[in-house]
Amino acid sequence: MKVLIVGSGGREHALAWKCAQSPKVSEVLVAPGNGGTATEPRVRNVDVTAEDVAGLVALAKAETVGLTIIGPEAPLVIGVVDAFVAAGLRCFGPRQAAARLEGSKAFTKEFLKRHGIPTAAYATFTQDNFDEGWVRAQRTPVVVKASGLAAGKGVVICETLDEAVTTARNMFGGQFGSAGNEVVIEEFLPGEEASFIVMADGRNIVTMATSQDHKRLRDADEGPNTGGMGAYSPAPVVDRAMHERIMREVIEPTIRGLAKDGTPYTGFLYAGIMVHPDGTPNVLEYNCRFGDPETQPILMRLKSDLVELCEAALDKRLDQVHADWDSRAALGVVLAAGGYPESVRKGDVINGLDLAAKRPGKVFHAGTALVDGRVVTNGGRVLCAVGLADTVLAAQRQAYALVDQIGWPGMQCRRDIGYRAIARERTGKR
Ligand code: AMP
Repeated sequence: MKVLIVGSGGREHALAWKCAQSPKVSEVLVAPGNGGTATEPRVRNVDVTAEDVAGLVALAKAETVGLTIIGPEAPLVIGVVDAFVAAGLRCFGPRQAAARLEGSKAFTKEFLKRHGIPTAAYATFTQDNFDEGWVRAQRTPVVVKASGLAAGKGVVICETLDEAVTTARNMFGGQFGSAGNEVVIEEFLPGEEASFIVMADGRNIVTMATSQDHKRLRDADEGPNTGGMGAYSPAPVVDRAMHERIMREVIEPTIRGLAKDGTPYTGFLYAGIMVHPDGTPNVLEYNCRFGDPETQPILMRLKSDLVELCEAALDKRLDQVHADWDSRAALGVVLAAGGYPESVRKGDVINGLDLAAKRPGKVFHAGTALVDGRVVTNGGRVLCAVGLADTVLAAQRQAYALVDQIGWPGMQCRRDIGYRAIARERTGKR
């Protein structure tokens, strides 16, 4: 069977690498892919972009693809799965109506509230009904969010109420295009974040291994927010009791609620959770796809066949399968281009990938391209070096041993990915 992976990031390289290991799979196509998927065994890039819905459907038909997995959110939010279903093709991901969980924060907040799922107190405004007085009555810090997709940049934590009012007005004024037509303003939640990712088939749920990512650019979680500078799995903050709580209070009511509302959810579902110091698992956001960079360390730990899991989901029999995990820890360090997350330079030759390939672990590509046989930088987040070892500390050492082989002008990375988990390992505390 041929599998098609849609997207071009590190997540898609990891999905393609994992699917290529399935004994059921003859070839994995990636549309459009990157420099890593271009050189991965049994994987082939195809020059169709992730948002070219008609082009993707035509590709899947022409190549008789048996299973398509959508990586990024944008094609899901514009309805790529609906188009595949209409053409009689098997495609793993939520349909457009269910993908609103990521496409509209206003929709999600209303959904969470209606179904009694814990989340920050909030209000939603448009330019026309914006109530500055309501904002000025809030406690600081306060969080202002563009409701639509804003490439991970539409969330601003405001230290003053003046800043909150200005931020909201800038969003209404088009700072994030139409994503800011609606703005969610919510209370700031203290606590520790964790990513909780599941596969759903409309009714049944298979949980992925837990993970935690580092969103800030610099060590000690300082500097601007990014798409993610590294991640590790498992996340010690999600112990057995917390896992049960998140399933019972967040994931199960969400999948049940969506089915009840007539928009059943099939696909990867990613809950961004803030674990309050009192133990409440508050939902910060939903993503309608696997996380990036969480996918890379999580799939390093997946022992089961991902293709079989996706097929079981499409056949609505996730209750009959389960995912087996390597008990070791995996940790991924993102290598970013100079200037990231602002403007980045592209086209620099990446050195040392051949040396890294000889070491334990795996280097997944994101913003890379293969030009004249050489791998060059082609985006903000360029690579993700993943280690897999008995402890988070050992996985971290393995990942940085890979990082230390690799270089190009301006390359940047954090040196402390996993520090919270490693501190917990040292003290033996949760
Ligand atoms: P989001 O895209 O909604 O997950 O927000 C991006 C990041 O902003 C999150 O990963 C959190 O670190 C932070 N954040 C979002 N909402 C809140 C909140 N209500 N309280 C504290 N931090 C938040």
